Amino acid sequence: MKTHTRVAVIGGGVVGCSVLYHLTKAGWADVVLIERDQLTSGSTWHAAGGFHTLNGDPNVAKLQGYTIGLYDELEKISGQSCGLHRSGGLLLADTKERMEWLKMAHARARYLGLETALLTPKEAKDLLPLIEERFFVGAMLDAADGNLDPYGTTHAYAKSARLGGAEIYLQTRVTALQRRSDRHWNVVTDKGTLIAEQVVNAGGLWAREVGRMVGIELPVLAMEHMYLVTDDMPEVIAYNKAHGRELPHAIDFKAETYMRQERSGLVLGTYERACVPWQPRQTPWDFGTELLPPDLDRIMPSLEIAYRHVPSLEKVGVRRIINGPFTFSPDGNPLVGPVQGQPGFWCACAVMAGFSQGGGVGLALSQWIVNGDPGFDVWAMDIARFGEWATRSYTNVKVRENYSRRFSIRFPNEELPAARPQQTTPVYDLMLAQGAVMGDSWGLETPLWFAAVGEEPRDVVSFHRSNDFARVRAECLAVRNGVGVTEISNFAKYEIEGSGAQAFLSLLMTNRMPREGRLILTPMLNHNGKLIGDFTIARAAADRYLVWGSSQAQIHHMRWFESQLPADGSVRIRRFGLTLVGLSIAGPRSREVLQRLTDEDVSGAAFRFMDHRAMDIANVPAMVNRLTYTGDLGYEIWVAPEYQRRLYTEIMAAGHDLSIANFGMRALLSLRLEKNFPTWYRELRPIYGPYEAGLDRFVDLGKGPFIGHEAARREKESGGGLRRVSMVVDAADADVLGDEPIWYSGKVVGWVTSGGFGHFVGLSLAQGYIPSALANEAASGGFEVEILGERRQARILSQPPFDPEGTRMRL
Ligand SMILES: Cc1cc2nc3c(=O)[nH]c(=O)nc-3n(C[C@H](O)[C@H](O)[C@H](O)COP(=O)(O)OP(=O)(O)OC[C@H]3O[C@@H](n4cnc5c(N)ncnc54)[C@H](O)[C@@H]3O)c2cc1C
Repeated sequence: MKTHTRVAVIGGGVVGCSVLYHLTKAGWADVVLIERDQLTSGSTWHAAGGFHTLNGDPNVAKLQGYTIGLYDELEKISGQSCGLHRSGGLLLADTKERMEWLKMAHARARYLGLETALLTPKEAKDLLPLIEERFFVGAMLDAADGNLDPYGTTHAYAKSARLGGAEIYLQTRVTALQRRSDRHWNVVTDKGTLIAEQVVNAGGLWAREVGRMVGIELPVLAMEHMYLVTDDMPEVIAYNKAHGRELPHAIDFKAETYMRQERSGLVLGTYERACVPWQPRQTPWDFGTELLPPDLDRIMPSLEIAYRHVPSLEKVGVRRIINGPFTFSPDGNPLVGPVQGQPGFWCACAVMAGFSQGGGVGLALSQWIVNGDPGFDVWAMDIARFGEWATRSYTNVKVRENYSRRFSIRFPNEELPAARPQQTTPVYDLMLAQGAVMGDSWGLETPLWFAAVGEEPRDVVSFHRSNDFARVRAECLAVRNGVGVTEISNFAKYEIEGSGAQAFLSLLMTNRMPREGRLILTPMLNHNGKLIGDFTIARAAADRYLVWGSSQAQIHHMRWFESQLPADGSVRIRRFGLTLVGLSIAGPRSREVLQRLTDEDVSGAAFRFMDHRAMDIANVPAMVNRLTYTGDLGYEIWVAPEYQRRLYTEIMAAGHDLSIANFGMRALLSLRLEKNFPTWYRELRPIYGPYEAGLDRFVDLGKGPFIGHEAARREKESGGGLRRVSMVVDAADADVLGDEPIWYSGKVVGWVTSGGFGHFVGLSLAQGYIPSALANEAASGGFEVEILGERRQARILSQPPFDPEGTRMRL
């Protein structure tokens, strides 16, 4: 064994081997992999080997596409067969809603460049004669689906990595990780200690235990998973003979099963409702290549439906039942990337679909390690998307929910119930008592909308406009015509202070820092000039800044801030979490409400747009920002949680005669659409540059150097490849949700990032990206947006439909 290496990858499953291979591919030969037992001896060896591109997040879907495309390259380099069967696959819909979901997936596949087709039940039956056509309303064909040999594929990665210079140590267990004073790691194994500059946790079933070696509890849990393998079936043999090919894969959403050919029989796997976690606290180190006892009763409800849908299954014997564990994160996507507070410690864990995702995970992580950036939008699988609230027991509840819903539809307005409420603010029950329908925002209950008196506060889940439509409209109108109040505690908030704070923020942000008592808006870029954050910054004192950003990105942003901190201790950063909570009042009469609650002069002249002040509001010590995301006159008021209840009740009392109304996140998002304001995570992501996103006025190239400056300058000169546009859509009873293709002259030219109904302007609105050349040349008309399989006319807006001059927010 070496004594020193650049990277030590812990774990020789498909994921660890992929990371190792990709590190060598990126040019790093001095890398090692350490495996407790043999390659594949965790969850990899007993996998069913299926692969597909389908994923709820388009960027993960793209990485899955990369993985599937990689296998030919691996076979070529290694000379090792991956045992590929590229059979294509069918997704079988039994309801109108499921078909709508497939239409959306098909539409999205168009702009991702994936090959899919929508089929009638008869066409599906022609491709897969084993199914009983009458149970289905339609299907989608995914040409990229297939299956492979897990053992061969893992070894193909490993051989390719070895050819690139990597070393692999088998039968060697990592027992401890010790941080050294030079920031490297002592990787202690049962065969001796090795020093690694960086460590990758690809421990699969033992990822939690490897995390504990550095003092963290990763949100990952293994679940038992069963599939059965049938005896040979005459129907399969006949199909192979007649068509000269294998049967396509199939996912039967109703039965919650997947099915594929195995030799001359079938593999049938289930994601059953009555799912069972495996080793919820601690994975034994001596767990070997063993299977768990099967439990047919648990999967019987699924099997009964599957057998009805594929009647030939009823006549065939079961050769084997496999029950094995594999790992999940609370939302089912992998946990990838550097761990905040643990420099040099990386994760590639919770990869539940190793043969669809392993290649993309390896590519992203290796680029991140080698270049400091994953090179893709890996947001949906970034380990930083979970906070401290994602505890072991939270993870247990959420993973079970996710597993049992693997083949269920998640409607766009559907909030999942498990592990809620996890965090609440002091006004939670006051809002519930007024009909609030709550949503989960980074583990915090946040009001989405308010039901009318006597109306049940519950979403009717749908892809179409639903029961909240009229209420959200009423909330929007209340704000635009008078005054509304909403909770904004879910925003991320930080304090950055010290003698170096100004220089630090100037280096990180594209905009010039504000004067004392003023606010600015600013994007943050990575070294490639792509958007990695979007903030509101107040200068509260000479060396003290308050920073607000996206809640979901707070660990991600802390990780970036910490990686850029000067070594001299001149900058201190604090993440407030819920020690600072907020309410926003907005609308043309919001000033009257504020003035009634304070003896400070809050007139337009004394407290101007983009001012920041500390003042007493309703006796409460508060920090007030004069801006809101509604695009109207408004204020954000920030207080310690013990004051929030008082603040809220006093605001409601002060606004009573002005008919002050509660409004929720859905109204807020609708109001911002009318102003063409972008949102982090939808319009603003690391695949876009600031000029592409239309943030020109927040980028000050003349203020001195900042991270991404050179790339931003180049983007400004070239105009960038893409352009964010806002559109009016001729929608019927369903608005865009995000990820719909944008068509122009019969071709898909872009994609929608978000949208909805603008209730005050009475328009269905969408934002998205199209090529900048097209945005410059094309007239505003002639575009179409595909909603639920139908192409609807769309027109690009040259200015916001509400208050284009911005006079309302400056009142
Ligand atoms: C029944 C079943 C069916 C499945 N079907 C499919 C499918 O059809 N398609 C698909 O894509 N996926 C499928 N999967 C999931 C797939 O198996 C996983 O996604 C994949 O195995 C994850 O690989 P991994 O490398 O992350 O983890 P693992 O395979 O668990 O590998 C982790 C490795 O790390 C080693 N290790 C851990 N700690 C240490 C340490 N301290 N020191 C040294 N070594 C250590 C372990 O020995 C192990 O070999 C299935 C899983 C099961 C159980």
